Parts: sequence; C-alpha cells; structure tokens
Amino acid sequence: MNETMVTRSRNRAVALIQSSKAVYLGTHVRPDGDALGSLLGLALALEGQGKRVARLSADPAPQSYWFLPGADGLSCEPPEWPAEVGIVVDCDGLTRVGPLESAFARLPHLIDIDHHGTDQAFGEVQLVDSGAAAAAEIVYGLLGALGVQTDAAIASCLYAGILTDTGRFCYGNTTAESLRIASELVAAGAEPHDIARRIYEERSFAATHLLGVALTRLSPNHDSEIVSAMLTRRDFADTGATPSDTEGIIDHLRSIGGRRVAALFVEVEGEQVRVSLRSDGSVDVAEMALSFGGGGHAMAAGCTAPGSLEEVRDRVLAAVRSALSRSNCSHAG
Ligand code: AMP
Ligand code: MN
Ligand code: MN
Repeated sequence: MNETMVTRSRNRAVALIQSSKAVYLGTHVRPDGDALGSLLGLALALEGQGKRVARLSADPAPQSYWFLPGADGLSCEPPEWPAEVGIVVDCDGLTRVGPLESAFARLPHLIDIDHHGTDQAFGEVQLVDSGAAAAAEIVYGLLGALGVQTDAAIASCLYAGILTDTGRFCYGNTTAESLRIASELVAAGAEPHDIARRIYEERSFAATHLLGVALTRLSPNHDSEIVSAMLTRRDFADTGATPSDTEGIIDHLRSIGGRRVAALFVEVEGEQVRVSLRSDGSVDVAEMALSFGGGGHAMAAGCTAPGSLEEVRDRVLAAVRSALSRSNCSHAG
C-alpha cells in the first residue's frame, strides 16, 4: 500500500470507530504476544474513548501474558450485546479467529489490522502493512490518528506485542520504526525490564522440561541446513506441559549455526500436526506454510496439517528440501 492508500484506510477506520458505541475486538486462535498486546492495547484505548468493548479470543492467553492489563477480561464467546464495528488484529484471514468467525462476519463493519505477508484481505477496511514487525505497530499508528493519549497500560500492551514479534528486537523484521515506536512506548510508561522478565523469565518447570525433551529430538537434515524436532502428545502428558508451552522452543532450533530452516512438529488433537517454520531468509517459509493451509511471514510461518507426526514431517521437510535446493541452484547460477 502506498502512503495515500494507508492514510485513506486509516481515515476510514477512524471514522468507523468514532461513529460506533460498541466494538468487538478479536485475534487469532492460540494468541501470541502480538495478538494479545494489540488486542488489549486497542481495547483500553477504545474504552478510554467511552466505547463498550468485547475482548474476544477463541483460546485463553498463555500464563506468561496474564500480567497484561485486561488479559483477565478475555472471552471465548461473543457478548449478548451487539456492536456496530469489529476489529480483528494479527490475523491473515478471518478464519484465523476460529469459532468466533461468524460473530465477526455478521457485524455491519469489519476492520482488518494485520502485518502478515500472506494476508487475505477481509472486512471493509484493511490496515495491513507487511513491513510492520508487529500488528502492535499498526495499532499504535491508529491510536495516534484517533487522538488517543497512550498511557502506561496501553503502552505496556503494545510494547509486549513488538517485543515478542521481533524476538526481543533480534529478528530480521526489526526496523528503525519498530525501535522508534518501542522507544515512544517506553517514554509513555512501558517498563522493558519488567515486561521481558514476565514474558521470558517465568517459564514453568513443565515448559522447561518440554523444551528439554524437544532438544533431545533434534535432527539435522539436508547437510544440516534444516534442523527439526518433534513433540508427541505423550510428551505433554509426561511433562505436564500445556500446548502453549511450545512457545519459544523454535528459537532454540533457529539459533543453531549454519541452519537455514528450523522446523518444529507438534502432535495435536484429532490426528493433526502443528508446524512452526523459521528461515534465515534464503527461502520463504510463508509460501511453504500457505501450501499446507497455513500462513505467516517470509522468515517465520506456521500451519496445522492433518496426518501423523511422521507423515506431516516427511511432507513438510520434502517441501523445505526442494525449496532449499532451488535456492542453492539459483545462487550458484
Ligand atoms: P508460530 O510458529 O506458531 O510462532 O507462528 C509463526 C507465524 O506463522 C505467525 O505469524 C503465525 O501467525 C503464523 N501461523 C502459524 N500457524 C498458522 C496457521 N495455522 N495459519 C496461518 N498462519 C499461521
Ligand atoms: Mn500472532
Ligand atoms: Mn504479529
């Protein structure tokens, strides 16, 4: 989107929001830091403007995000009261809200706030910027246009979104803009040390145990250019870990030197496998995830595919190998 289109979309979003009294906010299933931070920050801002707000998420927040203001007000069901406007954050398609899809689809107006390269536009207004490291950056821009004074609570939510989606400002998506916004959020009252400690340094014993199990399953592939690991449902039962305890495990795989793609395969209910993919930039893993019904960003993507752990692993790794071979060929040529 060029600047004029961005401004036009933002103005339309502002007009819709300003003319509404009640708003439903939603985000993707298994919400992460950006999903929660963007939703909760926007919720506080809209409440500050006198609007009635529903914070909707099909799945609960992982425990490490319970400290975010308003996290205890998340609901997995739409309220009984109606709303004129729905705003969906950090979703590259409306299906990503899971069972809440119909509640959003029937609202008179819908706004899509997203930063995925695989965004399949939905709603009548799109605030989509694949150059933004986090949806929270786009929300911050919207708050400016709405004339919201960012207080410490709003700033903490949005800072958590940027912190987590940039991998603590280490991933390739981190830009001067990410750092500028983060700096303004800190000036507004977000506390970097406290937020990082709560998200990254209060891991449960079970989650750490699960990480240990995953690391014993490390397997190099394709001359060690691919590093993968698998977790079975049994591993969760043995360690007492919950599904959201897999967060962060992929970062240990991606930190291995020489690796170009890291893949984590997690067996979930109903003969399905949740796949996390990370790339060093030499291949686009969002494209790969999309071909398996998922999505994401060029360097961080995911999908949930039907089949046994071994079947899904073999299919996904075959796709990764062939993409790497094509990229090796094109670099050689
Ligand atoms: P994860 O590996 O779960 O941290 O996800 C990495 C990125 O891929 C995030 O931007 C997710 O939004 C995206 N992603 C993961 N799973 C899916 C899915 N099933 N469908 C669409 N996008 C996904
Ligand atoms: Mn997300
Ligand atoms: Mn995001």
